[in-house]
Amino acid sequence: MEETNKIGLLSVVLPAYNEEASVPRAAQVIGGLLSGADIPHEIIFVDDGSRDHTWEVIQAQAGRYPQVRGVKFSRNFGKEAAIFAGLAQSRGACTVVLDCDLQHPPEKILEMYRLWQEGYQVVEGVKTSRGKENPLHTLAAKTFYSVISNATGIDMSRASDFKLLDRRAVDTLLAMREKNAFFRALSSWIGFQTTQVEFEVQPRLEGESKWSLRSLTRYAVTNITSFSAAPLQLVTLLGVVVFLCSVVLGIWSLWQKVTGQALEGFTTVILLQLLIGSILMICLGIIGYYIAKIYEEIKDRPRYIVAERCEGQGHEGNAEKDI
Ligand code: UDP
Ligand code: MG
Repeated sequence: MEETNKIGLLSVVLPAYNEEASVPRAAQVIGGLLSGADIPHEIIFVDDGSRDHTWEVIQAQAGRYPQVRGVKFSRNFGKEAAIFAGLAQSRGACTVVLDCDLQHPPEKILEMYRLWQEGYQVVEGVKTSRGKENPLHTLAAKTFYSVISNATGIDMSRASDFKLLDRRAVDTLLAMREKNAFFRALSSWIGFQTTQVEFEVQPRLEGESKWSLRSLTRYAVTNITSFSAAPLQLVTLLGVVVFLCSVVLGIWSLWQKVTGQALEGFTTVILLQLLIGSILMICLGIIGYYIAKIYEEIKDRPRYIVAERCEGQGHEGNAEKDI
């Protein structure tokens, strides 16, 4: 940790999907906080193809505050894509990513920035609690994080997307070509001098959570398969288990044949056919899913498509680093 008290531009990235009610408050609270602390900053809103007036509201903020910029996607590409678009737009010496609904307490940005000044390159926000959720959601989240933690070798149970990244960490992430980038895990996976800041998840003040059961399930499956080949190994494991069973059953059937009771067991045959048939199809499905992922990656389509941009007055040039 060489330098102390360095001053550098802080980029704040806020993904926003149908957040017309939250955007003005986010711009005001974060802008006020950082100006008050004399931290040079820019605020980048990424409108993830919202269907409400989020984009107009972002443009209005850019008109009011010179530090505010906005990027609008051509359609909804998801939060991960929005985060990466924000990172690609950021010009700061460090960048902080947080939710636009302010469930990630903005005051913590100051603490994160101080830690960055002390020389840390990745400052992770970790949740002290998960906020209010129903028990089923908590159970699903626990299962998801234990799988992801196993796959990455990093404890992800309290991880969040609330992170501050040094320029070098941002550039490392942007250089990754994978389309299914899972920000929360990748930003830990890249390493660097890392520390953590605890925060309490705040209740959402406006609007509602953008996650449905379906989108959460898709999110879990996509991210598990993008980080882990364990389901493929499960196929092998299933094969071994079925093989062991078949050895036992084989010996038993042979014994029946030898002792002359071989005609029995028609039900067993049907059950075995059904069981093995379904196991085979599930395994093919898992393999097929990974092939689909490879197909998606190999097509090399962009992670997102930018439809429009806006800048607060006083900005020059444009960071054209979108991928
Ligand atoms: N978000 C996004 N694209 C999406 C869904 C969500 O950019 O497709 C943003 C959303 O606007 C918010 C953040 O991601 O800033 C977290 O979303 P939300 O509050 O709905 O999730 P939760 O806090 O319930 O996990
Ligand atoms: Mg939220």
